[in-house]
Amino acid sequence: MTALGIDVGGTYTKWVTLEGEAVSGSGAVPTPPGPDETVELAASLAAHAGSIGIGLPGHVDRDTGTALFVPNPPGDWDGYPVGERLGALTGVPVSVVNDARAFARAELALGAARGLADVLFAVLGTGVGGAVALRGAVLVGPRDNLGEIGHVTVSPWGPVCCCGNRGCVETFAAGPGIVRAFGPGTAKATAAEVAEAARAGDERAAQAFEQAGWALGVALGDAAAFFGVGSVVVGGGVSGALDLMRSTLNNELARRRPLIGDVTVLPAVLGPMAGAIGAALYGRRSG
Ligand SMILES: [Zn+2]
Repeated sequence: MTALGIDVGGTYTKWVTLEGEAVSGSGAVPTPPGPDETVELAASLAAHAGSIGIGLPGHVDRDTGTALFVPNPPGDWDGYPVGERLGALTGVPVSVVNDARAFARAELALGAARGLADVLFAVLGTGVGGAVALRGAVLVGPRDNLGEIGHVTVSPWGPVCCCGNRGCVETFAAGPGIVRAFGPGTAKATAAEVAEAARAGDERAAQAFEQAGWALGVALGDAAAFFGVGSVVVGGGVSGALDLMRSTLNNELARRRPLIGDVTVLPAVLGPMAGAIGAALYGRRSG
């Protein structure tokens, strides 16, 4: 049975089809202008699907398939009955899940965390998503909101975050935070360009990534202490520059070794389709 997985992002929407554990098809398109159009896009991909999983960058009610707090993609998502509309259009069972939890499910089942039971996950992109797996299961929470490591406070007087707080990990370790740390008035528009500058020897660019690694290390150290977990998987577009964050990230974790022990940080292995693969796995489970 073909399992369709869709990962709705702020800019791009990606999809995969899974046959067993193998990806049999995939693609990416610009995210449509709103939830109606996104559901229509999903339905157009579902011709041969026996189940559909759809990941959203925010909080969702898994029981009803409703978007609750999804601020980044275009359009007004909050309260939108994604599962009901997509189910009505396709006649196929639909699961609606958080995108970082979907990423974690994929890396746990088929990727870097395969075979591990207790793992923390961080997804570095336009924001910072997170998840926690204990005893081989990704924890979910009542609004699919458990594991938001991106909104751990690392600097109470730091930059304002989209969540209403100040100095969240996300304000330092997501793409826009890295670009901001590199400096205003520069021509660098993306974290990838800042990474390129850092590799070419630019000291300020290197410091932006060192700061990102520090912020991530502080939060992962807290999470490791809180959950007693010794493995971390880091993915997302910005994680291509994980090597530039490694020393400050490892320093923060090493400093706390007496309490948290050795914490191993593993790069994700499934690439940009991990969220869509995880959504497909969740869809199949409910279907
Ligand atoms: Zn925040």
